[in-house]
Amino acid sequence: MKKSEDIDQSVKGMVSIVGAGPGDPELITVKGQKRIATAQVILYDYLLDEQLLAGAPSTCEIICVGKRSGLHSQEQSVINALLVRYAKQGKRVVRLKGGDPFIFGRGGEEVKTLRTQDIPFEVVPAVTSALGAAASLQNSLTHRERASSLIFATGHEDPEKGAPTIDWKHLHIPNSTLVLYMAMKHLPTIVEQLLKAGKSKDTPVAIVQWATMPQEQKLISTLDRVVDAIEQSEISSPAIVIIGRVLDLVHHDAS
Ligand code: SAH
Repeated sequence: MKKSEDIDQSVKGMVSIVGAGPGDPELITVKGQKRIATAQVILYDYLLDEQLLAGAPSTCEIICVGKRSGLHSQEQSVINALLVRYAKQGKRVVRLKGGDPFIFGRGGEEVKTLRTQDIPFEVVPAVTSALGAAASLQNSLTHRERASSLIFATGHEDPEKGAPTIDWKHLHIPNSTLVLYMAMKHLPTIVEQLLKAGKSKDTPVAIVQWATMPQEQKLISTLDRVVDAIEQSEISSPAIVIIGRVLDLVHHDAS
């Protein structure tokens, strides 16, 4: 049965904004995989496992537009312009993004551009990396005995916004799990502020780098020790940081 929100796939010149999932190429959705298989142009992010692109037609033009540390990322405006240009050429464009397109992924800005330009588009959601990390830890983020709310926050706000808008003391919420994206660089400051806000020193913290991928690394620590533990390990970005009592339930062989 065709759902009303499904875009007519015979339309020429359209964009599918597709979430690729957390890393393991098998964790993309069936719909996402189908869009790759019929794409004429794919614009993809650096963090993605390139195996995902193996299902693209041999004639498909595949362009990496993503961030890579040390190299300049393509400006979002350049990506937006490419989406518009290819769609206006009548191409079936796939904008393949890490995790879910709408979780700290600038999918909203791409949607705004496509709407303004009257270009037909759809959004294909996906498993966000926080959920990939929780699966790797085999740990619920909302275990009923430990957390009744779950917060996704970024540790790295858009520098163009000027002063940070997150006041970390407000994110110290009892009975809650805090999940941080892009937080490795500023973790010492974030930890310091959470401790100052009264979060207990022994609150468990888990870091999962490259969640669901073969090179995955995990570290389990506590709020007062995690910064040192990271320094003594090889773990770094891209990583998800999970803070909360739900991690009391983590199996230690998952670390
Ligand atoms: N839209 C993406 C997030 C983009 S922001 C999503 O839904 O997952 C980029 C950040 O996501 C990284 O800095 C890191 O914090 C996190 N991330 C993405 N892929 C990851 C992975 N495989 N393992 C751990 N963290 C990941």
